[in-house]
Amino acid sequence: MSQLIDPFLRPITYLRLSVTDRCDFRCTYCMTEHMQFLPKAELLTLEELHRISSAFIRLGVKKLRITGGEPLVRKGIMTYVRAMSRHLLSGALQELTMTTNGSQLAKHAAELADCGIKRINVSLDTLDAAKFTQITRLGRLDQVLDGIRAAKAAGIRVKINTVALKGFNETELFSLLQWCAAEDHDLTFIEVMPMGDMEETYRIGQFWSMEDLRTRLAERFTITDLAEKTGGPARYLRLEETGQKIGLITPLTHNFCESCNRVRVTCTGELYMCLGQEDMADLRAPLRASASDAGLDAAIRAAISRKPKGHDFDYSRAKVAGQVSRHMSHTGG
Ligand code: SAM
Ligand code: SF4
Repeated sequence: MSQLIDPFLRPITYLRLSVTDRCDFRCTYCMTEHMQFLPKAELLTLEELHRISSAFIRLGVKKLRITGGEPLVRKGIMTYVRAMSRHLLSGALQELTMTTNGSQLAKHAAELADCGIKRINVSLDTLDAAKFTQITRLGRLDQVLDGIRAAKAAGIRVKINTVALKGFNETELFSLLQWCAAEDHDLTFIEVMPMGDMEETYRIGQFWSMEDLRTRLAERFTITDLAEKTGGPARYLRLEETGQKIGLITPLTHNFCESCNRVRVTCTGELYMCLGQEDMADLRAPLRASASDAGLDAAIRAAISRKPKGHDFDYSRAKVAGQVSRHMSHTGG
């Protein structure tokens, strides 16, 4: 079976799969307060998630990230994770990982570790309990911190993902760094992206660029840029005084597109070849049309042959150009 290669000769080795659009939080930059979730019948079943993931792995995907919505609120999700861990055992898959808000981690950390998950990303934008509830609308900081501790105790390495929000967590830059250093967590900052249907001005008002954030870091630390490439929008730097490696994700620049190795599948089976483009392929129809995977494999190959060179996000004007209407919770962050 030949490996998936796109028209720009990029091998597709990384799949991010959204297993649900539902979430127990309503982060203000991600969802509206009264978010309408999809009818259950539209979501892929656990078995369909399994078939799609296995198809991608058969076609050469080596890294699988389970995301959402909140993956750990999906009923029966551990059955799926356990099934994927078999691909790790066979060597077909090299890394199984997850992005989570951490709320259910205390319950699941030990089993995730047992399934071969060695690293996870946990989203955490503030260490202030009141601000945490403000930004997540429904979340409790202590519950997430318990989850992070449980993951660490289970031997899972935790990377903290923090969305950089002007006027919200700017003042916590150094305390977040210090906490991550003390707890031995890697830390990555993410620029807020123009996703979903939220008011444009609201998002532009929250925009805190990675360039500004880097300048703030340079006021206190000696910064060394690291050459490390992930095929994604993260750049890494080292703070010489603490030895910490910090990631900066600038999804709105084009400088990572040429090495892009990833695609996304939504919880309804839509394959997005680029986070910033509307073009997608429906995988649910071929999946439901036949018990054989031939049609599914063909649909995946046809879609990859249309993977675009890059995306069109642009914050440079006062209005958001290249904005896509889907929510991160649908596409999977
Ligand atoms: N619920 C899980 C979580 O919060 O980690 C996984 C899904 S969430 C959509 C994945 C990531 O997307 C999170 O780190 C979140 O902070 C980020 N995210 C959501 N909306 C975003 C936006 N508008 N801009 C940038 N990052 C966003
Ligand atoms: Fe839920 Fe994650 Fe979106 Fe927050 S960022 S609302 S935790 S899916």
